[in-house]
Amino acid sequence: MKTVKPVIVVHGGAKTISEDKVAANQAGCRSAAEAGWAVLHQGGSAAAAVEAAIRVLESDQTFNAGFGSTLNREGEVEVDAAMMEGATLGWGAVAAVQGVRHPISAARKLMEEKPRLLVARSGERFAIKHGLEVCAKEALVSEEQYQEWKEEAEVVDRPNTVGCVALDADGNLAAGTSTGGTTGQPQGRVGDSALVGCGLYADNQSGACSTTGDGESIVPVVLAKTAIDALKDKHPDEAAEWAIKTFIERIEGEAGCILIDHQGRIGWAHNSQDMAVAYMHEDLEQPAVFTCKDQTLATIA
Ligand code: ASP
Repeated sequence: MKTVKPVIVVHGGAKTISEDKVAANQAGCRSAAEAGWAVLHQGGSAAAAVEAAIRVLESDQTFNAGFGSTLNREGEVEVDAAMMEGATLGWGAVAAVQGVRHPISAARKLMEEKPRLLVARSGERFAIKHGLEVCAKEALVSEEQYQEWKEEAEVVDRPNTVGCVALDADGNLAAGTSTGGTTGQPQGRVGDSALVGCGLYADNQSGACSTTGDGESIVPVVLAKTAIDALKDKHPDEAAEWAIKTFIERIEGEAGCILIDHQGRIGWAHNSQDMAVAYMHEDLEQPAVFTCKDQTLATIA
C-alpha cells in the first residue's frame, strides 16, 4: 500500500458571485473542505471525504445542491448527484429526485449496487430503503429560492452546482458532484452532473475531476473526461485551463472544473466570472479559499 499526501478540493459552482454573497460562498467552501479534510486526516477514504464535504454544501442554501437548490418550473427542488472512485472505476448516481436531503450519499451508496443510476421515484425509494435522510419535498425549498421563483426574478448570482475531488493516503481518488440543476428547468430535466465523464470522473491512473456549468453544453464536450485526458502531459492547472479552452472553442456556455492528479497536484479553471474553490492538504493550517481563478494561486504542490 503506497502512502501519499492526501488533498481535497471543493467548488461551489461556476457563476457570478455578487458582493454580498462572497463571504457566504467562501465560508461554505471552507467548511466543506474542512469536513472532507477531517476524514482524510483520520485516514478515511477519498470517497468518504468527498461525501462529507458535499453534504456540507448540500446543507448550505448558498449553493445549488440539496437544501436551497434552485427551483424547477413547478417550484420544486429536484436534484442530481453522482460519485466515482478511481481505484475500481465504480460509480453511482441519482437524478431528478425529490425529498432526499443528501443526494450525494445516495450516489455513494449506489456505487455498491447495480443498477447504478436511479432516477425520480426509483432514486427516492432507494434512499428510503437504505435509511438515508428523506423529508417532504417542500422542506428543501429555501425562502430565498421560493421568492425568486414566485417573482420569476432574474437571478444574477444563481447558486450553482457543487463538487469535490479528493486523494486519500492510500493513493485512491474520488470525485463527486451534486446539483439542483438549472432555474425553471422542466420536471425530469437532467444535465451533466449525474453523468460520468461529463459532470465528474475519477481514475487512480490519472486523476479526478468535478465540473459545473451549462449541462447541455458540458455533455457533448464530455468535459470531465476531457480534462482528465489532458493530465497525460499537463499539470492539473494547465489541464483544467486546456479543458475549459476546448469547451469554449467548441460550444457556447459557461463551465468550470476542479482537478487533482494521482500525485496530488491540483488545478482549476472556469470561464464564468467566478467559481468559489477551497483546497486543503497537510502543509496548510486551514483551507485556502478563492472566489475566482484570477486571485493568483499560491504555489500549489
Ligand atoms: N451543471 C448543472 C446542470 O446543468 C448546473 C450547473 O452547474 O449550473 O444541471
